[in-house]
Amino acid sequence: MISKINSSITLIILFIISPVGYIFSQEEITRQELKDHIQFLANDSLNGRFPGTVENKMVVDYLKNDFTANGIFYDLQEFTARLKGDNSEVKTWNVIGFIEGKDPKLKNEIIVVGAHYDHLGVKEGSIYNGADDNASGTAALLEIAEKVKANQKLLKRSILLIAFGAEEQGLLGSAYFVDHPTIPLDSIKLMINMDMVGHLNEENHVYMGGAGTFPGGMQLMDSLGIPNQVKPIVHAGSVAGSDHVSFYNKGISVLGIHTGGHDHYHKPTDDIENLNLDGEVKVLNYIYSALMAIATSKREMKFIPQD
Ligand SMILES: [Zn+2]
Repeated sequence: MISKINSSITLIILFIISPVGYIFSQEEITRQELKDHIQFLANDSLNGRFPGTVENKMVVDYLKNDFTANGIFYDLQEFTARLKGDNSEVKTWNVIGFIEGKDPKLKNEIIVVGAHYDHLGVKEGSIYNGADDNASGTAALLEIAEKVKANQKLLKRSILLIAFGAEEQGLLGSAYFVDHPTIPLDSIKLMINMDMVGHLNEENHVYMGGAGTFPGGMQLMDSLGIPNQVKPIVHAGSVAGSDHVSFYNKGISVLGIHTGGHDHYHKPTDDIENLNLDGEVKVLNYIYSALMAIATSKREMKFIPQD
């Protein structure tokens, strides 16, 4: 325990070296912190987080800073993305964090938690803010990372957190990662992807594909619904639509989680006003519970292919 004088000095130093906000951050997943992250990510000033833009790099720096503030920054993985439309090539990044497990053996087994941070940019004068797609998942990644880090001592397995670039251009960030993994690919025992988790409906439906790709996945994802006040719609297969596909194609167990489609999907109206932030807190508690159940368990993980 440090003395009072020391701790106030530490506090002053923290104030000087960290952006305001971080030192007040809570370990719990809170509506306010989610809102703060999404307000930044889905702000008009970021022009839709399009790969290759200055604003895209601003998001990368924001994510890196948040990981660094939480003591989990691991790597900035640069890659070249070929854009849909005009086929031009731009530089962008995957932002990676790491939280090591405590079991001498199982810490070599990795669970990846991912979310893409890019979106569609500006088209015909309209800014596509992508509040649900996928500021919601990116904010989720930061909040879950913070809570896992605070509970690191419970972990047996290790956690790799990846904010993917250029997903909207064809899953490019995740494709680059699995082709240039910063850790042995066969150490990854599960990849949990969050893409559009901000529109929980009145029935509290959380949808997921891939729950049958690892042992006990169906039962686990089902059983965590009630304690977290959500109704899981659990599919064994149905692996499609986002970055987890890149991992599944390499023979890795996956779980792709979302709260469903809606009228604002890939429209300029995908704004923070249309999100269900209280609902997203429930979704994140649900995902956190699943992640911790697997990361703190000794149960053997293996890939179970699905049709
Ligand atoms: Zn998306």
